[in-house]
Amino acid sequence: MAILADAGLTFTTLANSALTSDEARAAVLANPGFGTHFTDHMVTIDWTDGKGWHDAVIGPRQPIALDPAAAVLHYAQEIFEGLKAYKQADGAIALFRPEANAARFNQSARRLAMPDLPEAVFVEAIEKLVQLDRAWIPEGEGASLYLRPFMIATEAFLGVRPARQYKFIVIASPAGNYFKSGAPAVSIWVSDYTRAAPGGTGAAKCGGNYAASLVPQAEAIAAGHDQVVFLDAAEHKWIEELGGMNLYFVFNDGTLLTPELTGTILPGITRDSLLQLAREEGLTVSEGRYSLDEWRADAASGKLVETFACGTAAVVTPVGKVSGRDGEFTIGSGGPGQLTGKLKNRLVSIQRGDAPDTHGWIRKIA
Ligand SMILES: *Cc1c(COP(=O)(O)O)cnc(C)c1O
Repeated sequence: MAILADAGLTFTTLANSALTSDEARAAVLANPGFGTHFTDHMVTIDWTDGKGWHDAVIGPRQPIALDPAAAVLHYAQEIFEGLKAYKQADGAIALFRPEANAARFNQSARRLAMPDLPEAVFVEAIEKLVQLDRAWIPEGEGASLYLRPFMIATEAFLGVRPARQYKFIVIASPAGNYFKSGAPAVSIWVSDYTRAAPGGTGAAKCGGNYAASLVPQAEAIAAGHDQVVFLDAAEHKWIEELGGMNLYFVFNDGTLLTPELTGTILPGITRDSLLQLAREEGLTVSEGRYSLDEWRADAASGKLVETFACGTAAVVTPVGKVSGRDGEFTIGSGGPGQLTGKLKNRLVSIQRGDAPDTHGWIRKIA
């Protein structure tokens, strides 16, 4: 692995002379919502072909200057990550598995023909930002500071090839509960569109995947549902994932199933954490294929008792109802399932520091 320890990078800190007032920040933290409010600082690091990563700065959050020919604006050479900093019960600040985000960021970078960022630099950038903006971490159930690291191609060039200049940026946004309705179980729409095809970019966390999911997601909302679920592109049969969350199915014999990582599914860190936690609980969890037809039949027969979606933003979200061209079906009682709640609690209590971190998942920030 190309970890250049510190890559010779030293962060320059620039003061923000227009810090948000305590009153204005308190008003935001009282009702943060999701993704609409931002902290006072950001990290930027530049990459230039032949020079590598340079000019690491943590400074005031502000607009960035881009040449209108910047490659990201034309060919969508962009990747991102999402992770959270939590305020724990004892007041400590904790990141959850940031090294896993760093590793996935580089996997995405390789697929999008972008340069690797040393994992240590990725984590250090996040830690520095959280330290500086620690006053922005909201407290309370489901609250966190959401961190958004991303990389864009900044070279001004309209030819089609990997760019020779990039910018890595980290911004932070205080977050409350992701689903604003706070609904106990969501209703999802089976899309006719597909999210990812074999050989495509489905396993990379890139903005382009999201751009392509907006119409299907809007369709789901228009039809009165909360989220969209995508089937595989080749057969339009196998359940893959939601627009931004992985899925788990729970059966009446106590076993679980999650779609296997075939290359068209985003390898979620929440998915992986729950896989480990469930197995430690003594549950049998398999990774495999599950079709929409099986899902519908098993929900009707009672063989399938719960379904939930998982991801950093919303952690664990029960699925209550599934609708598509062929009608709709209800999962279990249509409300949150027992095992769903139990696994969510296991994970959240580790993140919150209420349960011991036996996996080394928590990285505390001084
Ligand atoms: C980010 C993401 C997920 C969830 O990944 P986590 O690491 O658990 O946050 C699932 N699906 C898609 C498409 C994603 O972009």
